[in-house]
Amino acid sequence: MSGNLVEIPPRPSLTEYEAIAHLAPAAEALRAHAREVAPRLEGRTVWMVNSTAQGGGVAEMLPTMVTLLNELGVDTRWFVIESDEEAFFRLTKRIHNLIHGAGDPLIDASEERATYEEVNRDNARTLGLLLRDGDVLVVHDPQPMPLAGFLREHCDIHTVWRCHIGLDEENEATRSVWDFLQPYAPDYERSVFSAPEYVPSYFQDRAQLIYPAIDPLSRKNRELHIHSLVGILANSALTVVPGPVVQPPYQHVAQRLQVDGNWSPAVLPADIGLLIRPIVTQISRWDRLKGWLPLMEGFVQLKERLYTTYRSRPALERRRLAQARLVMAGPDPASISDDPEGLEVIEELRAAYVALDDEFKHDIAMIALPMQDPEANALMVNAIQRASTVVVQNSIREGFGLTVTEAMWKRIPVLSNTRAVGPRQQMVHACDGWLIDDPESPTQIADALDYLLNESRERAALARTAQRRAHDNFMTFSQLRSWLGLLEEIVT
Ligand code: UDP
Repeated sequence: MSGNLVEIPPRPSLTEYEAIAHLAPAAEALRAHAREVAPRLEGRTVWMVNSTAQGGGVAEMLPTMVTLLNELGVDTRWFVIESDEEAFFRLTKRIHNLIHGAGDPLIDASEERATYEEVNRDNARTLGLLLRDGDVLVVHDPQPMPLAGFLREHCDIHTVWRCHIGLDEENEATRSVWDFLQPYAPDYERSVFSAPEYVPSYFQDRAQLIYPAIDPLSRKNRELHIHSLVGILANSALTVVPGPVVQPPYQHVAQRLQVDGNWSPAVLPADIGLLIRPIVTQISRWDRLKGWLPLMEGFVQLKERLYTTYRSRPALERRRLAQARLVMAGPDPASISDDPEGLEVIEELRAAYVALDDEFKHDIAMIALPMQDPEANALMVNAIQRASTVVVQNSIREGFGLTVTEAMWKRIPVLSNTRAVGPRQQMVHACDGWLIDDPESPTQIADALDYLLNESRERAALARTAQRRAHDNFMTFSQLRSWLGLLEEIVT
């Protein structure tokens, strides 16, 4: 038998959110909503089930959701399925890519289906011992999707499938994977997606939209006092400070790609200027679909214009653009040794970087963030985002884009594009973000960066509206209210 209940280390309670002036109204509204709904769920347990306790957006969101639901009186537990079958993970990674429209279609997949079902049947045996009639099973993503069918053979439970991924178009890959998953759909009373475009036809009649959300008190999103921010940057070798800081340096520090193509601590060859220069940042996984290369090319084009078309621009604007730097940060290569595509992307970027003129190399910092300590990593991401003038998410495809939400919440203006579903759901162009049409056009990127870097009033206005939008729509509180509504509906 496989599978495990996850113990969640202590986290902030709702009372702590309510004690913060700008979070209090949303936290209180959640509490009031729960006061009505929780009694209707009494006697039932909500089981959140996914395939990993660490890494990825689902594992990032569940601890907050589970902790707060329990505090609100909804008995909620988190169960992670397990397997030591390599074939299972190969298949589920393939399913993941196919839902994003990439990879060889699943044709004649009976052997894969047998492994997929065997692993889930095995996990259903463990979970089946814990479930009681009337409980609610919420299965996240495709890995544990067959569970509901096996569990319903023995218990009378309610079932929801929550899919966090999707693509806004159909191709052979998506059709084959949705066909492969179709036999498991009838075992679910409801489904939840992050965008209407992602819902396959057979879930259309029972699908609901719930946005992913961020936790404003997590290490990645909580406010950082100026000393903490500087201390985190100093301790991770992201900036040089003139005196000692209280905390000792992190055991693993950020690395910067050097002009010769090697990695060294990020303060070499000299301070990047995170605390003083205009900073344009993208933080993402090293995935081709994140649009890294055109972003680098767009930034270089902007700098080149200083020698051509921008010669006659006002001196202040020229200085601002001359001082601007691009930070491209992602997980350090050692942490993604099981991700050959990620390593390839790093190599491509490294080759493109090494081929640049030295002057442009100094203006671009490609950063590898250490992943050994997830808490330190989250603080580094938080500090870099807060030190940025503009955050870019140049994704060509993006399921949702928590990095966008994270920047919006921190009141940092975001540049993204209308081709990526997630960013265009989160932001309206020129209202709470800046959206270009084509993330693969360096010219559009250069134009947008020029505008955003030089228009400080526009930046501030975008960022203010963005924070409000993130607050109202993409915070844990609104997400949990949607879940409470769904749970109430399903049991009554
Ligand atoms: N992230 C991180 N460290 C990194 C790169 C990314 O913590 O080196 C985080 C980022 O802050 C965000 C998440 O990983 O919370 C990425 O989620 P998103 O929805 O933006 O994209 P995905 O990786 O799921 O495609």
